[in-house]
Amino acid sequence: MVIAVGFLLRRAVYSRVFAPKDPDNLPEETPAEAEDPDTGDRGGPSDVLTEEQLALLKPNELGKVPIIMYHAIGDTEGEWQRSRANFRADLQRFYDLGYSLIPLNDYLTGQISAPAGRAPLVLTFDDATAGQFTMIESEADGKWIPDPDSAVGMLLEFEKSHPEFGHAATFFIDFPAPFGDAKRVKENLAFLVENGMEIGNHTYNHRNLQSASPDLVVQEIGSLANKVWELCGYEPLSLALPYGGYPKSEDGLASGEWEGRTYANLGVLLVGAEPAPSPFSSKFSPLAIPRIRGSQEELDKWLGNFERYPEGRFVSDGQASKVTIREGEEGNLDPTRIEGLEVVTYTLSPTNR
Ligand SMILES: [Zn+2]
Repeated sequence: MVIAVGFLLRRAVYSRVFAPKDPDNLPEETPAEAEDPDTGDRGGPSDVLTEEQLALLKPNELGKVPIIMYHAIGDTEGEWQRSRANFRADLQRFYDLGYSLIPLNDYLTGQISAPAGRAPLVLTFDDATAGQFTMIESEADGKWIPDPDSAVGMLLEFEKSHPEFGHAATFFIDFPAPFGDAKRVKENLAFLVENGMEIGNHTYNHRNLQSASPDLVVQEIGSLANKVWELCGYEPLSLALPYGGYPKSEDGLASGEWEGRTYANLGVLLVGAEPAPSPFSSKFSPLAIPRIRGSQEELDKWLGNFERYPEGRFVSDGQASKVTIREGEEGNLDPTRIEGLEVVTYTLSPTNR
């Protein structure tokens, strides 16, 4: 009897909170699901999770977030290349394990609105290679569309049948020819921005900043930011360090000025090598954010860890304005990271952990 009731409850909560929607049959705007313009909430019918929902969904917004780092995407697998087939399989694996994509900037600002009960995951791509993103002319009507075999094409295609997965991704670009195409830089960057993807800073010349002077750090970061702004009116807000080379001084990493324009980075991403702390955690360090390499070995290792220890993983409450954590963990919050947000605590009964 208990099992039956539990099952019914599960069904009811599931359908209310994150049942997949039929993309062909959506009203213009579903009031209950509409994003609150003030808070960015998309938690569902009510903006407070019931005890049953908390017990079922187990939100844990002090858990860790996987930020995946891909380099080239191509036909074969290599040290710095993920094969297209494996990339497609990765998307399915992330989805099946309960992940939804969130924009890196949402992670950095703590505005996380992954569907309630799902775990946020961030996709990042370094070096702007053609396999990550290429536009082709459609044979049907001559319009420019993403190559379906590029990562952008694969992401957009996967989202069609898995709408709650999303398609957020950040591309850390450098010059002179992002995505291997110097002729269509402006169009390519504009497409990404218009389609809700992010452009990140990978320095103008893909420079190892480890031994760079503070002036050179500012020049490399600032000239990339200025160039992207000039091309498409977009401000990169994150930096991935080429080769993981960390400069001797942090001057110029978080902000700086180059040729009359200022830039700001909300986060600086490293090359390795573990899941990132919750952005609300006292362990969050914006100038040293770890990533997980998008290789079979590293994905197996870290995704497998979360499967064995699911309590370590960030699980969203679906509401950007609230931070839902387990009772007793309040001391792990960084007060400066939760300003303006409402902290919700709850306990799990011993039988429902
Ligand atoms: Zn690089």
